[in-house]
Amino acid sequence: MTTRVTVAGAGLAGCEAAWQLVRRGVPVRLVDMKPARRSPAHSADGFAELVCSNSLKAEQLTNASGLLKAEMRALGSLILRAAENSRVPAGSALAVDRERFSEFVTRTLKEHPLIEFETALVDRMPEPPAIVATGPLTDPALADALTRLPGLRALHFFDAAAPIVTAESIDMDRVFRASRYGKGSDYLNCPMTEAEYNAFYDALVSAELAELHDFEKNLVFEGCLAVEILARRGRQTLAFGPLKPVGLTDPRTGKEPCAIVQLRQENESGTLYNLVGFQTRLKWGEQKRVFSMIPGLENAEFARYGVMHRNTYLNSPDVLGRNYALASDPLLRFAGQLTGVEGYMESAASGLVAAIGLFKALRGEPEPDFTGRTVLGALERHVRTKARDFQPMNANFGILDPPDQQVRGKRNRCERLSERALQELDRIKDECELRS
Ligand SMILES: Cc1cc2nc3c(=O)[nH]c(=O)nc-3n(C[C@H](O)[C@H](O)[C@H](O)COP(=O)(O)OP(=O)(O)OC[C@H]3O[C@@H](n4cnc5c(N)ncnc54)[C@H](O)[C@@H]3O)c2cc1C
Repeated sequence: MTTRVTVAGAGLAGCEAAWQLVRRGVPVRLVDMKPARRSPAHSADGFAELVCSNSLKAEQLTNASGLLKAEMRALGSLILRAAENSRVPAGSALAVDRERFSEFVTRTLKEHPLIEFETALVDRMPEPPAIVATGPLTDPALADALTRLPGLRALHFFDAAAPIVTAESIDMDRVFRASRYGKGSDYLNCPMTEAEYNAFYDALVSAELAELHDFEKNLVFEGCLAVEILARRGRQTLAFGPLKPVGLTDPRTGKEPCAIVQLRQENESGTLYNLVGFQTRLKWGEQKRVFSMIPGLENAEFARYGVMHRNTYLNSPDVLGRNYALASDPLLRFAGQLTGVEGYMESAASGLVAAIGLFKALRGEPEPDFTGRTVLGALERHVRTKARDFQPMNANFGILDPPDQQVRGKRNRCERLSERALQELDRIKDECELRS
């Protein structure tokens, strides 16, 4: 195959995408602005730079991050191989020596005869075929061009998201389903007594905040105040604001409670719920400790923690179709954090899927459908599914199609979902002739 693909951005997603193309015989031009120009978080010269933690999260199949790794391994991921080659001890997580990791990726790509490299600032959509993977800190020159993508209603410049919990971990005996003033039953409501509200309030205002990076300190989170900052305005501010109980009667007491936390359904299948009005900058451990004090959430499993940080991402459902392709031109694709996946491995996973899809499109063959039964497919589905408030997503079991039969116990359920995902991936690989 002689058509050369431009991959913009040699980060986690761009390197994985480039690898998946060249190993299938497609020549690639990999362009990155480093080292001539750097984002505020990048400092090294190599490719696939890990800008913060050196952990790529869990490896076990009882964890969705572990399942994602198994799926990527089955499709010959370069990022995963680099991680396994630069592993450092970290219990059940896969953590790496970041320099060896980046060096492995850089060397493997540089030694491949089908890749050309260019140091350049990409400031417009490249000519097709191309994959744009310039990350959460995409240079403003390109970000400006992306705002003019036909059909795109928004390019987001920060992420201000409330935590998301799995439906099965909510104690349904402690919550009740209702909308305010009896207008339907859309929300799950966690009623608080005065004592519960006061204890929650005290924990919230004294909880530890995550640090902001220097480049985030002047960021204005338009119209969106962190719940802990709002709480600091006064003990009753939340009870008169996002936790107001008006129009909601607890059917168990027949009374309006002192305060109510509302949970809103997050996905179509109803496996995930978000905490309404709980955008937060608390450290993740603190979110677990403080938000588990909310009645009904004592044993909540957090599919995603709340975040408020700088993050450039497309309102992808406006413009993306199957396998991260622009709906208007399947030879132009996006990958990585820019599409609304969240995390190192998730970014690489989207590069893998975008590249395999593009490879098939270039050959005029049907593209694989990774389905909602694999994490690869569930993430891909998330970013092209219309949502009232599109938010980035990381790997978690809540985004997968529910199990075909009821399974008792969280561990058994996760094992069953993982087993099913890997069988599904085998089937897709056979059907689409994809090698490991
Ligand atoms: C500060 C920060 C900390 C994070 N910490 C974590 C963490 O600890 N764990 C985690 O799982 N995730 C973390 N993330 C989220 C995410 O997983 C990483 O940002 C990840 O690197 C995203 O992969 P990517 O391939 O989309 O982008 P990147 O890995 O950032 O790669 C993008 C590449 O594109 C290049 N580039 C950008 N603009 C242009 C342009 N216009 N022209 C040419 N080249 C360009 C950049 O130089 C870079 O090499 C963090 C994000 C940020 C911003």
